[in-house]
Amino acid sequence: MEQLRLLWELQEIEREMAQKEKKLPNLASVVEYKQLKRDYLNALKEHKDAEEKFAKEQKKLKYNEMELQNISNALGELNAELYSGKISNAKELESLEKKVRSKEKEKSDLEEKMLILMEKLERDEDKITKLKNKEEGKKELLQKSNALARRDIENAKRELNLLKAKRDELINTIDPHLVKKYKELRARLQGRCISLVKKNFCGVCNVSLPSSFRARMLTPGELVFCENCGCLLVPGD
Ligand SMILES: [Zn+2]
Repeated sequence: MEQLRLLWELQEIEREMAQKEKKLPNLASVVEYKQLKRDYLNALKEHKDAEEKFAKEQKKLKYNEMELQNISNALGELNAELYSGKISNAKELESLEKKVRSKEKEKSDLEEKMLILMEKLERDEDKITKLKNKEEGKKELLQKSNALARRDIENAKRELNLLKAKRDELINTIDPHLVKKYKELRARLQGRCISLVKKNFCGVCNVSLPSSFRARMLTPGELVFCENCGCLLVPGD
């Protein structure tokens, strides 16, 4: 009888272990860590994307600066020609003046475009600083959360190991053929297979047991099973 009681304890410890194992990936701190990781990766991507876009526009501005230099050079040459005094033909002069005006317009259009781009870059720079701060904030939260989640997982694993040690110790004190019987029953019933009987009720399916069962349960060496759920019955009171 004592052996059967130990068998029931073995079942309960194994059930507790299974529950703890199942809960491991769903620990609140682990779930929170996963969410924070998604948040962090999003913030990281947002920051990197903005930086890439910024670099592209900076390149564009550089290119515009070169273009402006070329226009200025060309304009200088045109003006030098215009005021050199070498051209006296009125038609030629008129054509040259027209070229100068056209270059000047090109220059001022480009300068305006560059100014708009520079203003945009300035705004983008602020935006990038904010995105960088956001990313760093998320990273800090993630690191704190990681420490918490790891601590919780370690604690849960420690508890599991304690239970495992308890179970192994228990198995060594139980008659091996009873342990074998328990394993067979557990595989067949797919769940609890040892029932602790209290006040003549089956502890698993709750059915009321005939009074004759009590005497049978107390008979050494006899294994009594619940006729309703098939569990091995163990006196619990
Ligand atoms: Zn039952």
